[in-house]
Amino acid sequence: MRGETEEMDETQFLELSKKMNKFPLLRYEELPDYMKDNEYILNYYRAEWSLKHAFISLFLCHNETLNVWTHFIGFLAFLLLTIANVTHFYLVADFLQVSKWAFSSNHPLNNTRQMISSYMDTTPPPIEVTRWPLFVYLGGSMFCFVSSSLCHLFSCHSHHLNCRLTQLDYTGIAVMIISSFFPSIYYIFQCNPLWQFVYLGIITVLGILAIGVLLSPTRMSGKYRFIRTLIFVLMGLFGVIPTIHATILNWNAPQRNAALGFESAMGFFYLVGAMFYVSRVPEKWKPGWFDLVGQSHQIFHVFVVMGALAHYVSVLILYEYRSRVSCE
Ligand SMILES: [Zn+2]
Repeated sequence: MRGETEEMDETQFLELSKKMNKFPLLRYEELPDYMKDNEYILNYYRAEWSLKHAFISLFLCHNETLNVWTHFIGFLAFLLLTIANVTHFYLVADFLQVSKWAFSSNHPLNNTRQMISSYMDTTPPPIEVTRWPLFVYLGGSMFCFVSSSLCHLFSCHSHHLNCRLTQLDYTGIAVMIISSFFPSIYYIFQCNPLWQFVYLGIITVLGILAIGVLLSPTRMSGKYRFIRTLIFVLMGLFGVIPTIHATILNWNAPQRNAALGFESAMGFFYLVGAMFYVSRVPEKWKPGWFDLVGQSHQIFHVFVVMGALAHYVSVLILYEYRSRVSCE
């Protein structure tokens, strides 16, 4: 139960903000229909804001601020990983090695300098393995995160831009799903070019079809929403086939369990995130309490970033494996 005084204060604040500036924050019931999406978020909406003000609102407090920032930070994290991979600065890119050091029993706890120098002296992997599939994934993830941030920041501008940016947001998700298959399939099936070609071919065709549907001029109807969800589920489920195939193929490889472990972590993060996204918990329980911080969509974003990072580690394990074990 919210106190009457608190209710009064909130209303007064919003009324004042309306009087004071051209771009006030609105209540849910004041929104144009196309923006009414989550009835449990009651206040602090932006609507019909100019592009300039929408951009400035990146640094203001409204109910989309954390939605923008959670994925923008994800974008920055993947940008950093990309730079680290391009410059071969393994200390940052390969936090797998750092974790190996952290969990090893004989690490020089009392000599940080020794740790860093011994790390930097790590002999390069004996086999030169291409990193382009890794960059496909990093690029796909950055595209997804930046599309999502742009969508949350500028959707308040107009109905037209709202529709276009929503399409961009969903296209970003599809691109990230497709791109995440690339390094896994490429490295796992490196010694089986036929299967490598078949799986990468199927996921590319599925991806092009999915993006075609997502960019089609269909209105945001219930049917479209259903088709969109079905596409994402099918794309995710497709991953099961090469995973089972790869597990059988690499039954004796010690890296198999580690890679599978991180892939399971990724699956877990995405699943938990999706549950928050669909259920609209916790704002459903206490409408108005999570308008600014703690709403389901922000939690969903954080889980997506964690899932993407778990997949990155799994890909690093596969890359490392390919750098040490050649095809017979
Ligand atoms: Zn979002």
